[in-house]
Amino acid sequence: MSRATSATIHLGALRSNLERLRQLASPAQVMAVVKADGYGHGLERVARVLDRADAFGVACIADGQRLRATGIRQRIVVLSGIDEAADIAEMHRLGLESVVHHASQIEWLAADADPRPLKVWLKIDTGMHRLGFAPADAAQAYRRLHALQNVDADIGLMTHFANSDVAEDEQTQIQMQRFEDIAAKLPGARSLANSAGVLEWPQSRAQWVRPGGLLYGISVIAGSHAAQFGFRPAMTLASKLVAINRVGKGEAVGYAGDWICPEDMDIGVVQIGYGDGYPRSAPSGTPVLLNGRRAQIVGRVSMDLISIDLRGQADARVGDPVLLWGEGLPVEEIAAHAGTIGYELVCGMTRRVRFLEDEG
Ligand SMILES: *Cc1c(COP(=O)(O)O)cnc(C)c1O
Repeated sequence: MSRATSATIHLGALRSNLERLRQLASPAQVMAVVKADGYGHGLERVARVLDRADAFGVACIADGQRLRATGIRQRIVVLSGIDEAADIAEMHRLGLESVVHHASQIEWLAADADPRPLKVWLKIDTGMHRLGFAPADAAQAYRRLHALQNVDADIGLMTHFANSDVAEDEQTQIQMQRFEDIAAKLPGARSLANSAGVLEWPQSRAQWVRPGGLLYGISVIAGSHAAQFGFRPAMTLASKLVAINRVGKGEAVGYAGDWICPEDMDIGVVQIGYGDGYPRSAPSGTPVLLNGRRAQIVGRVSMDLISIDLRGQADARVGDPVLLWGEGLPVEEIAAHAGTIGYELVCGMTRRVRFLEDEG
């Protein structure tokens, strides 16, 4: 028998999340961000289902290769652009668009012999201080790109927020203002908003929004769940109960024995662990759904298994279904227990997890 652990991807949820985003962001176009294997949901699967996306955003050219190989025709933007001069030929071959965030990328373009125009997006660092030209250098970078015959004259303008998940945060207002100061003097489509930008900062929607997390039904806004904004979780992580054991009062459960039974009680053992991508940092008290009812993890998450408290679950039987996250148990809630964000959890499924699909 194969392991019970499975991640089911809900294709209908992906579709309805995209429609919800289109409604929210209209008339902006939607660049669906599918980096990191579609946030762990499967790149090709996600892109095929999101056929109403206006474009896809990927982290690297290899993702663009995979999308073209599976027949995706939409625009594809490589968010970190070319990593070396030789990438330009591959961008042309695959019909990809490149973010330009650094002077070295302009040098490679200027030295390239291929006369075909490459479509580019100029990335401006308005305060995140990761990728992008400083505001003082942005106009000059734009002019240099515009002067190149092998760069499409219609250059997009892009920036990325550091704190858009924090409502009314001053940093986002500063970033929007810096972007506006530069973009007001330059033509070209503008793109600022990630998922939290779409939700929290309507002024940032501009011509293109770039949501990732909300497509998968995940919010990074502290204390919120994407379900509260009309999005549906696209992944259900599930397994089953493989043992029920009576353990006596005062006995310790699991590695290091840091959870002690307060009374004689039943402990359930579930076939999931950090070897599947369930976070080892999830402490005692983290919820699961057993037969649709909440139960709590007790003791440490181990590689293959977790233990749960079965008090109040007298009807539990070996083989019963256990949901780790999904409908009814937001991954955002598990992430909060584990000290991370939902994105990291869904990106972390390992190869032994069986991936299933349903239309719902
Ligand atoms: C990852 C990423 C996004 C999407 O962010 P979400 O929070 O998942 O919506 C948008 N733009 C860039 C440049 C990114 O790297």
